[in-house]
Amino acid sequence: MKDKFVADGMLGSLARKLRIFGYDTIYETDLNNDKILDIAQTDDRIILTSNRKFHQNATKQMVNCILLIEENDYERLCNVLDGKRDEELRLSPKDTRCSICNGEMNQVTKNEISNLVPEEVLKYQEEYYRCTSCGKIYWIGGHWQRIYALSEKIIKKIQQT
Ligand SMILES: [Zn+2]
Repeated sequence: MKDKFVADGMLGSLARKLRIFGYDTIYETDLNNDKILDIAQTDDRIILTSNRKFHQNATKQMVNCILLIEENDYERLCNVLDGKRDEELRLSPKDTRCSICNGEMNQVTKNEISNLVPEEVLKYQEEYYRCTSCGKIYWIGGHWQRIYALSEKIIKKIQQT
């Protein structure tokens, strides 16, 4: 079972990346710290925060919490994912979650989405996924290659330490 997270309001771009890595990550800009604590406790989630006071407070209450004071998402991800096995870190489009809403994804055929995707994309892409929650359609484009390269970099870094 993969870890589940709830991220504070400062960590939106990290939350989106964790979703692409397949981690169930709750992130909403209007969640206050009490609500985040509540979600972490009732739903067995690890809190991700860049706020030292909040981290202290959560830890005092025996809630699993990771303090993230790194300067970029690459370093933050290395921290959050440290100790995870390669298989868990290796990206697979089937295991990703929707970066926008955290929904689960289903593979769909070209026919199912042919009227929802630009023609230029249809010409070159064969593999499509749709978020079961918000309906957004994803394909293995340039964005995927960038995040895949990032995941390889993280795996290397974690193996070294
Ligand atoms: Zn979605």
